[in-house]
Amino acid sequence: MSIQSFMPPQRTLMGPGPSDVSPRVLSALARPTIGHLDPTFIGMMDEVKSLLQYAFQTKNTYTMAISAPGSAGMEACFVNLLTPDDTVVVCKNGVFGARMIENVQRIGAKVVVVDGTWGRAVDPQALEDTLKQTPQARFVAFVHAETSTGALSDAKTLCEIARQYNCLTIVDAVTSLAGVELKVDEWGIDAIYSGSQKCLSCVPGISPVSFSDQAAQVIKNRKTAVQSWFLDQSLVMEYWSGQGKRSYHHTAPVNSLYALHESLIVLQNEGLENSWARHRNLHNKLALGLANLGLDFIVPEQERLPQLNAVNIPQGVDDVKVRQILLNDYNLEIGAGLGQFAGTAWRIGLMGYAARNENVVLCLAALKEALTK
Ligand SMILES: *Cc1c(COP(=O)(O)O)cnc(C)c1O
Repeated sequence: MSIQSFMPPQRTLMGPGPSDVSPRVLSALARPTIGHLDPTFIGMMDEVKSLLQYAFQTKNTYTMAISAPGSAGMEACFVNLLTPDDTVVVCKNGVFGARMIENVQRIGAKVVVVDGTWGRAVDPQALEDTLKQTPQARFVAFVHAETSTGALSDAKTLCEIARQYNCLTIVDAVTSLAGVELKVDEWGIDAIYSGSQKCLSCVPGISPVSFSDQAAQVIKNRKTAVQSWFLDQSLVMEYWSGQGKRSYHHTAPVNSLYALHESLIVLQNEGLENSWARHRNLHNKLALGLANLGLDFIVPEQERLPQLNAVNIPQGVDDVKVRQILLNDYNLEIGAGLGQFAGTAWRIGLMGYAARNENVVLCLAALKEALTK
């Protein structure tokens, strides 16, 4: 007996990520691998950079893709910007805010937490109150789209407040990028990271990041080396600088970057605003259908993320059994609850290529049958 090639089943991915990858992006992955210092590849990387500048709505020179998943983008922002002398205000309203706190703690910097409610947006007033009492704070960090709860925070207002208190901002846009309005330059975001596998609908494992000139200056002015060699942006920035000269830092995930390039072309062709509108429209349709099934949302309407719909599991319904029926009978994946909501919520994703009318219809029909059983 020998082990055979792995043939994954054809699923519809409507969880918290990864989302469905479009056939266009999958076929880009299968193109011939070339050297990562090949001039042709370097030309493609420069295009990835300008496509990312479009997706983030920024002119930041230091806009690039880290060769690792969203979590590495998070870590890269924290380890490059912070030193143990710094004080950081972290807004926590779910799992990913808690991870930000852990990043700060591991660096040995001081963290002051704005403790928010799970399932609600970050409260701008609570941030301002904390900043008033924390004059030594240099950074404010928050999650734009909290995938663990489905809450969308007002990044524009939070950045405005941070700026009034002379803080740079670190923003998690892993789930928000391409799914909801996000304007890095207009909102004055200093360091932002995202992920390839949520609303960009690319394969998992790449993290787009962008640093404002001010944030890049903080990194350049560091007196101590960044604790992580791999994530040290001062080394990687040269690799991505686009000045024609590229030196070896690590081997880029060549084919995954073809895929990212293709997914960003798909986004460019659709148009950012159209992508935001598509997520919103399909969310409205899904929300109506879920209400008809008697399922209620965790997050109040004005604070809901279109691309991540968290609903309470009705009393007496078996969480695991329902998700098994969806997976086995419909090849449909939805997300389980995470953290405080483990076992009590479902998280239905409408991300990127998965945000299509036929998926909304499939999900509602499948849920209806599973709930009846
Ligand atoms: C998914 C996610 C991450 C982590 O991204 P990975 O690619 O899984 O490492 C970070 N923050 C948020 C808000 C996410 O949804």
